[in-house]
Formats: sequence, structure tokens, C-alpha cells
Amino acid sequence: MFKKILIANRGEIALRIQRACRELGVKSVVVYSEADRDAKYVKLADEAVCIGPPPSAQSYLNMPAIISTAEVTDAEAIHPGYGFLSENADFAERVERSGFTFIGPTPDAIRIMGDKVQAKQAMIKAGVPCVPGSEGELPEDPKEIIRIARSIGYPVIVKAAGGGGGRGMRVVHTEAALIHAVQTTRAEAGAAFGNPAVYMEKFLENPRHIEIQVLADQHKNAVWLGERDCSMQRRHQKIIEEAPAPGISRRVIERIGERCAQACKRIGYRGAGTFEFLFEDGEFYFIEMNTRVQVEHPVTELVTGIDIVQMQIRVAAGEKLPFAQRQIQMRGHAIECRVNAEDPYKFTPSPGRITMWHPPGGPGVRVDSHAYTNYFVPPNYDSMIGKIIVHGDTREQALARMRIALSETVVEGILTNIPLHRELMVDPKFAEGGTSIHYLEGWMGKHKR
Ligand code: ADP
Repeated sequence: MFKKILIANRGEIALRIQRACRELGVKSVVVYSEADRDAKYVKLADEAVCIGPPPSAQSYLNMPAIISTAEVTDAEAIHPGYGFLSENADFAERVERSGFTFIGPTPDAIRIMGDKVQAKQAMIKAGVPCVPGSEGELPEDPKEIIRIARSIGYPVIVKAAGGGGGRGMRVVHTEAALIHAVQTTRAEAGAAFGNPAVYMEKFLENPRHIEIQVLADQHKNAVWLGERDCSMQRRHQKIIEEAPAPGISRRVIERIGERCAQACKRIGYRGAGTFEFLFEDGEFYFIEMNTRVQVEHPVTELVTGIDIVQMQIRVAAGEKLPFAQRQIQMRGHAIECRVNAEDPYKFTPSPGRITMWHPPGGPGVRVDSHAYTNYFVPPNYDSMIGKIIVHGDTREQALARMRIALSETVVEGILTNIPLHRELMVDPKFAEGGTSIHYLEGWMGKHKR
């Protein structure tokens, strides 16, 4: 096991990784920007080093500053968390070349999965079902593009190979709009991602977002830890996640889970990862793989009892996975609400000082947050300030516990989306389970204020 790990992230995930280190008896170094100087988790870390001013480009994305901090503090490994440099293959490569362990997959695996065209081709080879679409990148010839779209059938979606964060996509309903859409997406993709390659897929009209969590070690073992339903989204940003996915038979889930674990073995994947799928009419369609820990990992931890962040660290240190697939048991139901510092209905960010922070508690309630009374939410980063996660024997019990937890939570001084969560937790359709990725936006339309 490592003696010391550098955490190249901030906020709740920096605290989460720090907690995992503590339990493993590993010392942690946090790097922080001037905006996070007073954060409690920075003070709690074994060592903390300021690496730059508030803008991410000069701090949390500053590779030389992070790597030289690892050098001067004698850290052996770097945990990138999520966001920032977590899926940057060049960073992973520089970390390894500087003699540190990158807590994540190999730079090659990150690179392949970061290019959606390559990722899809790897998945097709590994037997993972994908959305029907173009075989690889779209050609230049407009006639060819039209032919491909006809063979897929409208509506289609044109997507940037290098896209991410819900950007670089365009839905096309008619042939008349096709070529212009391809050209615009190409131009945007070139400017935004430095890669103008685009591809085409069938546009699924009303899917759910279901994902499979995997874990793999460096000894050719890979397991899957069940699924998560993350269909409650706005502008492709998830706000509620749960495990298991309501209303899908275990047999169907097991089949796709096994495929994902097999794919990990085939591509030599290591560490934690997530296969994201759209699910429609009983079928799974791969859309992308995330090669890092996800915001919503706690719901899987609560139903499996497995600490995913500790596992990331242990497999990065070369340990074998301590369990086989048949030893992984799902128990009960877990739900997560992301708490964002934002206007609950207009979604405009609401940074500033939290004058009162009172988190919920009680049976089956977990709060992952770095916030506290008098904490200042900086305006420079993502608006998520924490997550409330509940576990119950059944989905009904988990829902009840989430309603209680939300009713107990007090955050004053800034706006948060907690009022929105409170309403969604009593929404009859959500209570039924199985709503699609468009449900929240439709709901917002009906609940205008
Ligand atoms: P990103 O990396 O930007 O998140 P994804 O490929 O994961 O891109 O797609 C993001 C979201 O876009 C999906 O969660 C889904 O809502 C929508 N989407 C992507 N592909 C399709 C598709 N073929 N049909 C319908 N919706 C899609």
C-alpha cells in the first residue's frame, strides 16, 4: 500500500478521497487554489499545498504544479477524483513518467474511451451493444452522409468524437437539415475539442439513462457492481441517481453487467469505471465509458457495501480484487440527491457564504459534503456542494428516508436546489419509477413559476 497519496481535486470528492486514505492508513496531501484556502478539508489533510489562483486553468488543471507538489511532498500516487484532470490521458501519462502511480486506468485506456468513435468501436468488438449508427467517423462526401442517415433512419443525432459534458451534439429530424447540421457540429467540435471528427447515431426518443459500475485489477480480474439509474437530468446534468434501476429485471441487468466485466478484461481495463447506456424498450445501447470515479458512486456503495474509492486505491497499488463476482450482493435500495448552490427553478448559480448548514441524519442517511456553517462557496467552480444519499430495504423506504432527510436539511445564506428535490420526491411519476431522461425538463415546463 502507498504511504502517501496526493489528491488532485477539491470539494466533496477531495474530502471523500481523504476519508478513504484515512481508513487505509495512508497519508494524504491536498492541493488547493487560493479560493479553497479556508476549506475545512484542506485544514484536515495531513499536508496541504496551495498551487495557484482561483481559476482552474491555473490551479486544478495546472499539471506541472500538481506533479511538482507530489515531488516535494514525497507522495507516491495521485488520485484525480472526477472532472478536472481525471480523464486527461496526457496528465495520466505525465504522472506515470514522473514516477508516480496514477490512480485510474492506463493513459491508453483513457485516450480510447475519450474518443467516442474509438470507444464505440472497442465496445462493438467486445460484444457490448451500441446505438445503431455510422461505422466510425462520418466521411466528407455529403451523398455518403445522406446514405448513412437513410440507412439508420430519422431522427438521427450527430455527435462529436471528442465531445463531453453534453456538448457537441445535434439532433436531425429531416434530410433537408442534415448536411448543415453535420457541418455546424464539425466546426463547433473543431473549435471546442480540437477534433472536428463527428459520427452519427439513431436518436432514441425516450430512453432512460442506466449505467454499470465496474472495478478491475491489474491481474485480469474484473467485476460489475450493479447498475444505477441516472435518468433525472437537466441539460444532460444528472441531479438524482438511484440503485438498482426500478422495473428492470435482474436477468436483463445481469446480461449487460457480464458483458461490461468481459469488456474490461478484453481491453485490459484497470480501476473503477462506468459504462453508460441508454435503455429503451428493454434494450441497452452503449453511449460512453467514464474512466474515473463518478459523482453518484455512493448509491452503489450503499447497496453493495463496497468502498469504491478504497478499491481504486488498492488496485492501483497492485492488489487483487478481494472478491469474485458471485460474492457481490446487492441489498436494498439507495437514492442520491445532488445539492447544488443554485436557484432551484432558474438554475442560476448562487455562490456565497453559507450562514447556516444543518445536514440531515438518522438511519440509512449519508451526507458527502465539504460544506459547513460559515463556509464560502466560491464562484469559480461547479455548483455542487454535496450529496445526500439514503439507503432503505425497499425503494419505498429509501424514498421515505430521502423525504425526511430533505425536510431536516437547512442551508441558509445561499440558494440551493433542495426545494426542487423536495418536490420531486413526492412526484407520483418519480415514485412509480422508470421515468425517462426527458422527464425532468417536461416536469419543469409544467411547474413554471
Ligand atoms: P457526453 O459525454 O457529452 O455526456 P453522451 O454520449 O454521454 O455525451 O451523451 C450525453 C446525453 O445525450 C445522453 O445522456 C443522452 O441524454 C443524449 N444522447 C446521446 N446520444 C443519444 C442518442 N443516440 N439518442 C438519444 N439521446 C442521446
